[in-house]
Amino acid sequence: MKITNIQYKKAPTTDKVKFEIALQKGNPHNSVIILKIETDEGITGYGEASPLGLVTGNSIDNITQFFDEIRPLLIGEDPLVIERIHRVMDAYILGKSSGKAAVDIALYDILGKKTGQPVYKLLGGNESSVQSDMTIGIDTPDEMAKLAKKYVDEGFSILKIKVGRNSKDDLEAVRKIREAVGYDVSLRLDANQGWGVKEAIQVMKKMEAYHVDEIEQPLRHWNFDSLKFVRDHISQDLMMDESIHNPHDALRAVKAEACDIINIKLMKSGGLYPALRINAIAEAAGIPCMVGCMGETRIGIAAGAALVAAQGNISYADLDSYRMIEEFSFIKGGFEQKGGLITLSDKPGFGLEIDF
Ligand code: MG
Repeated sequence: MKITNIQYKKAPTTDKVKFEIALQKGNPHNSVIILKIETDEGITGYGEASPLGLVTGNSIDNITQFFDEIRPLLIGEDPLVIERIHRVMDAYILGKSSGKAAVDIALYDILGKKTGQPVYKLLGGNESSVQSDMTIGIDTPDEMAKLAKKYVDEGFSILKIKVGRNSKDDLEAVRKIREAVGYDVSLRLDANQGWGVKEAIQVMKKMEAYHVDEIEQPLRHWNFDSLKFVRDHISQDLMMDESIHNPHDALRAVKAEACDIINIKLMKSGGLYPALRINAIAEAAGIPCMVGCMGETRIGIAAGAALVAAQGNISYADLDSYRMIEEFSFIKGGFEQKGGLITLSDKPGFGLEIDF
């Protein structure tokens, strides 16, 4: 089997809900790139890049350029030799993780279609469904509580709350959210690198009153020593997100004993193949993982959900970005969602129907 063509399409996204995080004003997501890889056997795979510059250093323009540059290196390659193709991409250029993720997702789609199997089974097949949280962006505490109630009424039992811009407002928002949804709903927080060391410890001490389970990335991504210090001084689990892009970061976090949970994202790792290696390192160290997202449509979410379903050590899912944007009419299938429960398609590949 050979790759015969690689095409892409830029797709600007439209927000359905207001979404802000600590380190960036306004919604950080505004466009994705849909990738199509064709083969000489008539099997076509689809992938997606959702470059979030703040986290990956990628942009729509530098990822489309990456696709143009990598195309001649990949045409003629066997799409089933995924390890080899990652080596070709990594030997060509450092980084560009969201572009590599798009290629990787399309290759797994082809592998699934070729073998007649859904990708979640090829990756391990531990389960066929996934319980995802729903995220609430930074807004006034009252607006955040209103949205929390709406999501719980829609059937979500886990909420992820963006904090980290102003700790007084953070506490007020979480207090109001608890008041609105009661104590049967799990709450996790994500500060997106917005706090300092002492602030993080003080805020999380006060958060004990509101039964918060996890705090994600309280400090800047490079600050492993201080993340360990915070982890040692709070009662909640500390999750690393922006600190962990690749297996090397995961190993560094394990050695530093800097976190309780790792948030894997395909756009940071460069796809499913490297993500499996991050999870293997974490699992060997007794650290469970989450798969999160960064503005992806149904394509990236189907791939992320397949990874969570496949691997027993990945017991957390934050796969909600496709719900925050107007869905594209040319992308369908992959999974169904009811409340927080995502049930994967049993069709070959990711089971997506894409008209491109
Ligand atoms: Mg995060």
